[in-house]
Amino acid sequence: MANTAPAFPKASVLGYPRIGNQRQLKRAVESFWAGKINATELENIAAGLRKDTRKRLVELGLGQTDSSIPESFSYYDQVLDAVAAFGAVPARFADLANADGSLSLSAYFTIARGQGDNAPLEMTKWFDTNYHYLVPELGPDSNFSLVGTQFVDQFLEAQKDGYVTRPVIVGPVTFLALSKAAEDAPADFNPLTLLPQLLPAYEALLEQLHEAGAPWVQFDEPALVNENLNTYGPELAAALTSAYATLLAVPQRPQVALAAPYGGLEGHFAAVLETGVEAIAIDVVKGGIPELPANTDLSSTTIAAGVIDGHNIWRAHLDDKLSVLERLESLGAQDVTVTTSTSLQHVPYTLDAETKLDAELKTWLAFAEEKTREVVTLATGLTQGRAAIAAQLQDSKDALARRQSAQGVNVPEVRAATAALKQDDFNREDATARKDAQAARLNLPGLPTTTIGSFPQTTSIRKARAAHARGELATAGYEQAMRDEIAQVIELQEEIGLDVLVHGEAERNDMVQYFAELLDGFAATENGWVQSYGSRCTRPSIQWGDVSRPEPMTVRWATYAQSLTKKPVKGMLTGPVTIMAWSFVRDDVPLRETANQIGLALRDEVNDLEAAGIAAIQVDEPALRELLPLKKRDHADYLDWSVGSFRLSTSGVRVDTQIHTHLCYSEFGEVIDAIDNLNADVTSIEAARSRMEILPELADAGYSRGVGPGVYDIHSPRVPSVEEVQELLELAVKSVDTSLLWVNPDCGLKTRGYDETTASLKNLVTAAIAVRAQQA
Ligand code: GLN
Ligand code: ZN
Repeated sequence: MANTAPAFPKASVLGYPRIGNQRQLKRAVESFWAGKINATELENIAAGLRKDTRKRLVELGLGQTDSSIPESFSYYDQVLDAVAAFGAVPARFADLANADGSLSLSAYFTIARGQGDNAPLEMTKWFDTNYHYLVPELGPDSNFSLVGTQFVDQFLEAQKDGYVTRPVIVGPVTFLALSKAAEDAPADFNPLTLLPQLLPAYEALLEQLHEAGAPWVQFDEPALVNENLNTYGPELAAALTSAYATLLAVPQRPQVALAAPYGGLEGHFAAVLETGVEAIAIDVVKGGIPELPANTDLSSTTIAAGVIDGHNIWRAHLDDKLSVLERLESLGAQDVTVTTSTSLQHVPYTLDAETKLDAELKTWLAFAEEKTREVVTLATGLTQGRAAIAAQLQDSKDALARRQSAQGVNVPEVRAATAALKQDDFNREDATARKDAQAARLNLPGLPTTTIGSFPQTTSIRKARAAHARGELATAGYEQAMRDEIAQVIELQEEIGLDVLVHGEAERNDMVQYFAELLDGFAATENGWVQSYGSRCTRPSIQWGDVSRPEPMTVRWATYAQSLTKKPVKGMLTGPVTIMAWSFVRDDVPLRETANQIGLALRDEVNDLEAAGIAAIQVDEPALRELLPLKKRDHADYLDWSVGSFRLSTSGVRVDTQIHTHLCYSEFGEVIDAIDNLNADVTSIEAARSRMEILPELADAGYSRGVGPGVYDIHSPRVPSVEEVQELLELAVKSVDTSLLWVNPDCGLKTRGYDETTASLKNLVTAAIAVRAQQA
């Protein structure tokens, strides 16, 4: 690279939300799926959103032509984009590709969503976030070539409007490290071994981007910070070294910024430096300042310092951040620039869209736009000195001081309750005694059937909720509508023949937000949407203060549902870890303290449900795995407080009250012991896509209570056949004692329609009855 190559921008962000500030992309994509708009119309909407983003980022202070603006758009997922660009399409979808290997938009979406008997790519959590990516499936025969043009197209699209932007692409090492062995590949196949085959496609991309005039490209390599990956360690370091040796040897190429969000590079920092990439974007928020051997030579490397947290919504203490940047400058890098610790895709667009949020609380926060401004401010401070940003420094200091002493942030009674917790508060009676007492009370058949909690959130439910929110439907009318819905859901479940019923969660806008709205210490946003997967967005609540429960939250709904049937209806709560994972939690007290506060609030709710006669209570913890720290040294502490908070919430009940939990979305191998330690009587767990993979692992871990491996994937409208469910159950009984086996879908049904839900559940019940008969 010539010395005259443009420097890495002094202020940049690693990535930006892409769903649109009013979720325009979600709507457009869903309209496309529904056949209401065509591909060209969808493409035009997407192009409009990209254009708006670039324009807005310049208004916020990023440079128009200095590569500071990331091209980080995706129609669905950035890993799927790499699959599409490099032609890594699984065999079962190969027919969908065009002759040149590229994918039409509809083919692209089909791989994400499945079609007929062809299951979609598996979806799993992206590092320690609530974003889900699609897992590429690779085998020894996978071959790659640059077939997709979206990266260069978007760069050129920006160029035409007078921008020079920075394409953001999942790096080759991370792409392979996040892939899994295709079903027909040998079980021990390691996708990392495909690096030599993959690299030519990335080389071609570099050439193509260079030709288009891109001065910089950003390769995201977060795999390098994740110790939980099987390949973490020397193997990953070796892949890194060989990958970047090859890529940097491309004679005509953009400069390469390697981004390592979500944690410190630690041991891998030296290897990254050694590759000779022109810039390294490090996560200073999670990883701190790299500790380097004295003789480390950074003189030809730019450190893009991720000092602004891309993963939460708290306003930064700018003075502290500036000090960190100054310390980084003393390391002797060619340049130190300011960026975000991760893509801003994990935070909402702007606080300006919040009209109802408490005015004081608002001054403590920063969303994507405000964080971009913080980055720009810090870059100014770094180049021009503190005086140039004196007012902003003072503002942020004042806001944080007010936050510290604000009412509700530290509530003495709440702190006293958590301080008084004793070991006993986390324990229940012996599991065998529980099993017998519950069997006597519930009187269920073998292989009992149930669902995970939610039933379809129909348009009429959503309309009623919206009308209620607008004040057009009075509370009484709204609640009656929800009760009617519950009555229908109970009737339907009776008809289908399920054994343990649910009330369907009609009254819940979201499994976390619903509780956040009823607990003290949380605030809800109006427009704070973030992408969860594909077109799905969530609106995380903001936990800003000490948490307590002013009054029961679910009891009247549960008891109403129970009053309509003789079958047991499960009480349904969201667990402390999941409430935390799917909210923006405060950063000024240890997570353990917040977990215990929520645990105590839920414990009161669980006890109230029990007192109201509810015999089975489910406390969902789908996010248990998600919050697992990326560094092994942090695991023990995390598992201690996370599992502890669940136990705290569920250990106040009698021996004959059955505690259920539910987990999904993840590879649970890492937390198998923790699942056992939750000490729930029944654990339902996502398992269909991985074909019950989890069961032998659970059995090996000594898990010996009830387990409901999901027998069909609810993420697509596909109806599983009776045979298919039966086959999975027959697989399940090979590793689980039939007396422990429950039959349920993978997850809640809220995103599904009634037709497919009814058909699927009928097949599920039929299959359960068949296997029950076999076992009898
Ligand atoms: N009880 C919740 C539901 O059924 C669980 C959802 C989840 O695990 N994500 O919707
Ligand atoms: Zn689930």
